Amino acid sequence: MYHYVRPKDNRFPGLFRHDIKDFIKQLDYFDKKFGFISREGFINSIKNQETRKGVILTFDDGLICHYKYVFQELKKRKLWGIFFIPTLPFEESKILDVHRIHILISRIDSKTICDYLNEISIQKLFEEDKIEEFKELTYWNQTNDMYTLLVKRILNYFLKYKYREGVIDDLFKTFIKEKISLDQIYLSMENLKEMKSEGMVIGSHTKTHKVLSKLNIASQEKEISKSFDFLNNGLGKMDIKTFCYPYGGFHSFNEHTEKILDDYNVDCSFNVEKRDITITDISNRPQALPRYDCNQLKFGKTLND
Ligand SMILES: [Zn+2]
Repeated sequence: MYHYVRPKDNRFPGLFRHDIKDFIKQLDYFDKKFGFISREGFINSIKNQETRKGVILTFDDGLICHYKYVFQELKKRKLWGIFFIPTLPFEESKILDVHRIHILISRIDSKTICDYLNEISIQKLFEEDKIEEFKELTYWNQTNDMYTLLVKRILNYFLKYKYREGVIDDLFKTFIKEKISLDQIYLSMENLKEMKSEGMVIGSHTKTHKVLSKLNIASQEKEISKSFDFLNNGLGKMDIKTFCYPYGGFHSFNEHTEKILDDYNVDCSFNVEKRDITITDISNRPQALPRYDCNQLKFGKTLND
């Protein structure tokens, strides 16, 4: 699993990113050590439960760097990847809250953001069952990285969804002040069409990138169906229907989510869990396939310079 793969960018100086040079080194390492599964091999493996050995590359969030750097590198190597797209930015030309949080953290010291959130008594806007967890977290001996984690936890998990957009709007007004255009963050539908025609697999990553386990069944269903509908209409049907959970981890979805994905004939879905995929996973629980974060493997270190 990859997110930002790019060189240093002065517009977003503190962005957590995997440097493109390390990405290239990591591809060489995977090639030598494990090899890659072909696109056809992957589809057969999922649809017919055949064993295959090797690496599958996946890229989340529809980021511009996936077109600009990743896709170009994969093409050069005759490799393919799965690109998981949250569709709201393409449908409504809006930057997702999860990425507005990244922009904030990349430019503003996390402690400053924490102090601001404290001042507006952000705890009053939390989900009831998150307040205890929050108290525990705030007892930590905080380093800068801890503040970053805290900002992410507050804005992504603790805050009630009905308040989140407003709070992030206020943070932007206070700290960012400049309009960030969509193409600074995301690739375009044209890019996706080109990538699909060159053998890349395009999958769904919901519409609005929310924690699905926080939503009721009807809202979860909407997130999943709307995003597949949009991708099918814009790009045409895929020969394999894939999905991955926003944020990932077993806490980020529930049994209803897996049932919806099954009912919607999704061939497989990716979770985040540090182990290889087995044939048993594919046959018994195809909607929660394990996936490594690239930073858990050699040459995968994340920078925030
Ligand atoms: Zn994501």
